[in-house]
Amino acid sequence: MSQLKIAIQKSGRLSEKSLALISEAGIVLNNSDRRLIARSSNFPIEILFLRDDDIPQYVADGVADIGIVGENVILEKNSPVRTVKKLGFAGCRLSLAIAKSIDYKGISHFNGKKIATSYPKILQKYLTDNNITAEIHEISGSVEIAPGIGLADSIFDIVSSGSTLISNGLKEVEVVMKSEAVIISDIKLSAEKQQILDKLLFRISSVQTAKKHKYVVLNAPSSQVSRIVEIIPGMKSPTVVPLAKEGWVSIHSVLKEDEFWEIIDKLQECGAEGIMVMPVEKMIV
Ligand code: ATP
Ligand code: ZN
Repeated sequence: MSQLKIAIQKSGRLSEKSLALISEAGIVLNNSDRRLIARSSNFPIEILFLRDDDIPQYVADGVADIGIVGENVILEKNSPVRTVKKLGFAGCRLSLAIAKSIDYKGISHFNGKKIATSYPKILQKYLTDNNITAEIHEISGSVEIAPGIGLADSIFDIVSSGSTLISNGLKEVEVVMKSEAVIISDIKLSAEKQQILDKLLFRISSVQTAKKHKYVVLNAPSSQVSRIVEIIPGMKSPTVVPLAKEGWVSIHSVLKEDEFWEIIDKLQECGAEGIMVMPVEKMIV
């Protein structure tokens, strides 16, 4: 039986969450000490640990079948791969930043400027699209120090909280793209590998859906059941079980994390008590 080869970052910002995703999907790795390859005893998958920059090319070449990488890297490498799922972690943006003392009046500021970046292709396309002519100075790391040491006037780099910019006396002036970690796939997967990928994606979706929901159990007077059922409709309909105490029931249901506090307020208004809220591990709808 064939194995699906998945490339993940060996060590860096994507590594822990990529491994956690695989583990939450119920996949047990037998040697996850990140040498080069790890295998699983309970799922037809092989993990390749690589530098994130190499992942799009390895997937495009078919050395790996799928990979987990930031959208920023995919766009910069411009490799022919398919994005199959957004993963919701490693969120960041690629932005232009300049010295904070400069009075910024708009994108034309960059005409004739020298910009340091590790993302020359994305930057060049953005400048061309905006009719700006600037000099791009490619450096591989610590881009944020370039203006301070006189290497460039401004930078084009990854920003998440913005604190790195602030501590280097810079300010973000244009957001060029937003990025998060995604799963990419080889465009020409065999039917057998596609089947394994579909199975993996199904498991990941169940975990992602579960994380967005909470399981709630509460006690309420029987007279309030119909009002409460309207507030927490659940997946199909809530479970209502009688309590030993006459005139009272226990209601079990599932609710969305983002509606949680609003719903709890309404439940209390209906006389609900002993409200317990629990995480959901997997959810298949
Ligand atoms: P490698 O050694 O594998 O080449 P790297 O140093 O290029 O690693 P990391 O800094 O680990 O890469 O970042 C990996 C990805 O995480 C980035 O490409 C980006 O998509 C995402 N990311 C999210 N937030 C940040 C952040 N604050 N700084 C850098 N990258 C971030
Ligand atoms: Zn990298």
